[in-house]
Amino acid sequence: MSIADTTLAETEILLAQPRGFCAGVDRAIEIVERAIKLHGSPIYVRHEIVHNVYVVEDLRKKGAIFIERLEEVPAGNTVIFSAHGVSKAVRSEAESRGLRVYDATCPLVTKVHIEVAKMRQDGFDIVMIGHKGHPEVEGTMGQAGEGMHLVEDIEDVQALQLADPERIAFVTQTTLSVDDAAEIIGALKAKYPSIREPKKQDICYATQNRQDAVKFMAPQCDVVIVVGSPNSSNSNRLRELAEKLGVPSYMVDSPDQIDPSWVKGKRRIGVTAGASAPEVLAQAVIARLRELGVRNVRALEGIEENIAFPLPRGLGLPA
Ligand code: SF4
Repeated sequence: MSIADTTLAETEILLAQPRGFCAGVDRAIEIVERAIKLHGSPIYVRHEIVHNVYVVEDLRKKGAIFIERLEEVPAGNTVIFSAHGVSKAVRSEAESRGLRVYDATCPLVTKVHIEVAKMRQDGFDIVMIGHKGHPEVEGTMGQAGEGMHLVEDIEDVQALQLADPERIAFVTQTTLSVDDAAEIIGALKAKYPSIREPKKQDICYATQNRQDAVKFMAPQCDVVIVVGSPNSSNSNRLRELAEKLGVPSYMVDSPDQIDPSWVKGKRRIGVTAGASAPEVLAQAVIARLRELGVRNVRALEGIEENIAFPLPRGLGLPA
């Protein structure tokens, strides 16, 4: 007996554009694959290279070993830093242990690290807007030994006590909600009118574009499904955004997590994917929805991204 729900025959899937992999994630995965090809397995990767279960499992099968602490890497081995970046302390530990390092930190995270270093050099205290415990935040906060202050929300801004309000600057995590960050930045500027801001916002192009695509898609939908892993910051923000726009929204790591009751009686189902979620999973979600009886799929219009970042020295030549 078919599992297809015939009432879904007229239902349409709307596919967000852009969705899925960003240039930083593409590069990070390629760094691991090329390092394995060049040096053989195992290759150690500090933290999940990107926050996606499917990607991590795939690389594990190819020979990557994921670790959280550098002491887990045996002497003389190769370690790759994840796309989220690392603190200066981690970098020097790897150096002092003589490990071979490939750095998969996204260049847009490195840009924030450089901002921090420069502003600390100029004597500024730095307020970082971000989510406590996220590896990118730990890496960026760890670019300076002192003078860094993390805020997660407006209450944290209100509680801030800074010695010299004339010499402060802010940076942000790259994958925040654009709207939430704007509110927190507003509160910071109200409290510290001379606060210095980044020349170009730290929230990256991929985060901005995927959130804009959800803002366009969600109002046309009865339900939104975001493909992404639970620890993916930017995927969580996409789900929250659709929900804030009044549309029931769910995040799934794989198609079998879709509960048929989510789409029952719905006319339009929006599908998107976080920057660390591969297109193969978005397609598997569409296939599952087809199995459930949906027949129509329409890709929405949106920005075509054509950004690519160069690979680190030593891995950049064609494989
Ligand atoms: S989400 Fe943005 S900052 Fe993170 S890896 Fe992708 S491009 Fe880089």
